[in-house]
Amino acid sequence: MADVVILGSMALDTIETPFGKVERVLGGSASYAAYAASFFAKPAIISVVGVDFPENEKKVLLERGILLDGLKREGKTFHWEGFYEFDMNEAKTIKTELNSLESYKVKVPDHYKDAKYVFLANIDPELQLDAINAIRKPELIVMDTMNFWIEHKREQLLKTIDKADVLVLNDAEARQLFNTPNLVKAANKALRLHTRAVIIKKGEHGALLFTDNKHFSAPSYPLENIKDPTGCGDSFGGALTGYLAKTRDTSEKNIRKAIVYGSVIASFNAEDFSIERLKKIRHDDIEKRFKEFREIREF
Ligand code: AMP
Repeated sequence: MADVVILGSMALDTIETPFGKVERVLGGSASYAAYAASFFAKPAIISVVGVDFPENEKKVLLERGILLDGLKREGKTFHWEGFYEFDMNEAKTIKTELNSLESYKVKVPDHYKDAKYVFLANIDPELQLDAINAIRKPELIVMDTMNFWIEHKREQLLKTIDKADVLVLNDAEARQLFNTPNLVKAANKALRLHTRAVIIKKGEHGALLFTDNKHFSAPSYPLENIKDPTGCGDSFGGALTGYLAKTRDTSEKNIRKAIVYGSVIASFNAEDFSIERLKKIRHDDIEKRFKEFREIREF
């Protein structure tokens, strides 16, 4: 039985940063999120790949204890191509080839339907809503999105957000979605839908949490070795939801802690391409960095 069900894309990514270029490596919001969640809980993916998807990448996820029973295989794998300039906070998309994602219909396996924790990683908001409707009695639904869906499916996206408990998005997306340059106003607009909490990621500058009457600002980590920030948002959301599933505590206080764990995993993720850095970290590394995050905030 899985602790966290994760819906999202599984991709082959081609990425160029000032520190190198990789072609058709494992990517996708669900891959990063599930790998990140697996440090805390048992994740199960709902997604689609093509028949061209490499078996060895599937094996990496399975060996990590990630359930792939909800992974469909048809057509060609989703391919995303992007690059970063020296400001690594912004990914520039060169190509989004949806391929098998375009006609994909969510099918939630029966044994996922009683999951209590759900992370809807970045994917078509209509698919996110289908997943929400298929899970029987979730305790917490966390969702993410990106500019692509804000531009292409704004109305559907707002309907889905209305059904989620925690909305996670980055600062530029928050401004774009809620039509305001002010992040506090954007967060308040999101809270007027039915979300309990809004988390705004600010790339390497930390994250903000807004709930009805409280506000928390998580620090950023002074990372010297950033190679590729792709998947930081997804690993942040996956680790955050994984930590909440592990602790079974969705209080505001615990969400703060989950945000810091999310930031810890995301900071490791940026240190190499694809999930290469995540493959190498151990629990000790996570706890050590968590402590450092805590110290940064003390005054
Ligand atoms: P991020 O955490 O925002 O850096 O997410 C990066 C991942 O999102 C990459 O591995 C891409 O494969 C994936 N991605 C890019 N565009 C989309 C999209 N429109 N829908 C779903 N996933 C996407």
